[in-house]
Amino acid sequence: MKKDYLLTPGPTPLPPQVMETLARPIIHHRTPQFQAILKEATENLKYVFQTNNDIFIFASSGTGAMEAAVCNFLSPADSAITVEGGKFGERWSELCTAFGIKSIPIKVEWDSSVEPKDIEKLLKSDKNIKAVFTTLCETSTGVNHDIKAIAQVVKNTDAVLVVDAISGLGVLDLQTDNWCVDVVVSGSQKGLMLPPGLSFISVSQKAWKLIETSRCQKYYFSLKAAKKAWDSVDTPFTPAIGLIIALNESLKMIKKEGLANIFAYYKKLAKATREAAKALGLKIYAKEGCSSDALTAIEVPDGIDAEKMVKTMRDTYQVTIAGGQAELKGKVFRIAHMGYINEFDILTAISCLEKVLKEMGYNFQLGQGVAAAQKVINA
Ligand SMILES: *Cc1c(COP(=O)(O)O)cnc(C)c1O
Repeated sequence: MKKDYLLTPGPTPLPPQVMETLARPIIHHRTPQFQAILKEATENLKYVFQTNNDIFIFASSGTGAMEAAVCNFLSPADSAITVEGGKFGERWSELCTAFGIKSIPIKVEWDSSVEPKDIEKLLKSDKNIKAVFTTLCETSTGVNHDIKAIAQVVKNTDAVLVVDAISGLGVLDLQTDNWCVDVVVSGSQKGLMLPPGLSFISVSQKAWKLIETSRCQKYYFSLKAAKKAWDSVDTPFTPAIGLIIALNESLKMIKKEGLANIFAYYKKLAKATREAAKALGLKIYAKEGCSSDALTAIEVPDGIDAEKMVKTMRDTYQVTIAGGQAELKGKVFRIAHMGYINEFDILTAISCLEKVLKEMGYNFQLGQGVAAAQKVINA
């Protein structure tokens, strides 16, 4: 009998409690019954976002909230810093260009975190920069950016700090209010244990001021419209009712577990994954100290075809991990430790990795990776 394991950095597996909600009959959204759920889910999102700021939910993939974060705050010909350390950082630049905004990219080596002082220098040299677009966990590379330190640099300027936490939210500590992060965007199919289809955005008071002056075109993603509807606990358009009911369930699970426990747990899974890779003689793609605890990107050894390895794991053994994207295609593979993934899933992924590497002729002793991961998990 075939059994599937999903360890990709989005989508991630669904807990049975969440799946059960998705099998329920649909209810109408303009009802006290749904409003109570929407309200509770929004409140619990504030817990996960660690904020008292407004939070809005869109029916879109994560990129929808990224688009909202560009077109609601800025105007054509404005300039904004975009931190480009991978495919998702580049998306900020592409979005700016799409709206006629001048992006000033900071091109970071893909295996490294951005230097906050590089952002500081740019902000000092050009006082007209309106926003700094960054990424918490760059999912294409497995690199983490130090949002706390970046916020330190941005908070005393006129610019707003926008963080793509699509894969990081609920996995890595992101103290929106304590650190003064103006706008955080996220999506449903990564750390939040849901199918794709919802995106989220939190908006600080400082960011609301920019909304008042923004002249970019927008309609579906208008935050003004979202805020107006929210005054009567409503959404401007039909919400993704079923997904929001599922969200309410997953957020309850997260709240019950507690963010601090969750962050510590993923940290352990990340370490176990890295140690397993090292024990197999493989190299972590991210530089020392830059690796994310939400996923690990590992370089393939010489002579091994990464795409073929990932495909064999998936098609022959039903263990799905991710290959590399863009310039990392064929060079790395990525194992996620976010969402509804536990230590035994990680051990399964590593043992499957070992099996396939062995079949492909890579030389090592079977069990070395699993043993190293077990050591971390059981420490
Ligand atoms: C997945 C991801 C995105 C894209 O989200 P979609 O849901 O595919 O639109 C953007 N940024 C990061 C960091 C991601 O992990």
